[in-house]
Amino acid sequence: MKSLFMPDRMFPTVGDPSPSYLRENGIDVLILDIDNTLVTYGEAEPTAHVAQWVERMKSEGFSLAVASNNKPERVARFCEPLGLFFVAKSRKPSRRCVTVCCAHFATVPSRCAVVGDQIFTDILCARRSGAHAILVTPLPYPESLFFKFKRLLEKPIIRRYRKLHSRDRKGVSS
Ligand SMILES: [Mg+2]
Repeated sequence: MKSLFMPDRMFPTVGDPSPSYLRENGIDVLILDIDNTLVTYGEAEPTAHVAQWVERMKSEGFSLAVASNNKPERVARFCEPLGLFFVAKSRKPSRRCVTVCCAHFATVPSRCAVVGDQIFTDILCARRSGAHAILVTPLPYPESLFFKFKRLLEKPIIRRYRKLHSRDRKGVSS
């Protein structure tokens, strides 16, 4: 059985999972992390680039929501200009944000992808919920000691992911 910490897929940025990749995996709801996923930690408002991507994904027929462990004021200020449904103080890896988003969009966890930069919050939340787990490379930010420690703990899992996926690729080509 796959570990609860193992992402289904890793991508360099939130904009990289293509509509066709998402459709092939039966996903129509994206539950997005904010900090170091959509924007750098502490950036109060969405960038023009994020706003364009959100519009593009909506026009492709996807439903988008935000789930952040950050405070309601921060999350609301970020989501309101984008018109996004959100769950603040979501306490990921709690499954609550997936349950709330499924109720809001009248869907089931297997049709959702949780997208974020942290294994022990975003990925664990997705895997515990039965949602698709997408890990993105964190946007560059000044790392506190606590974050450095968390990234250190993530490294063996990322190495294992790379090993598994290079084996998959070899399997396909042979
Ligand atoms: Mg984050």
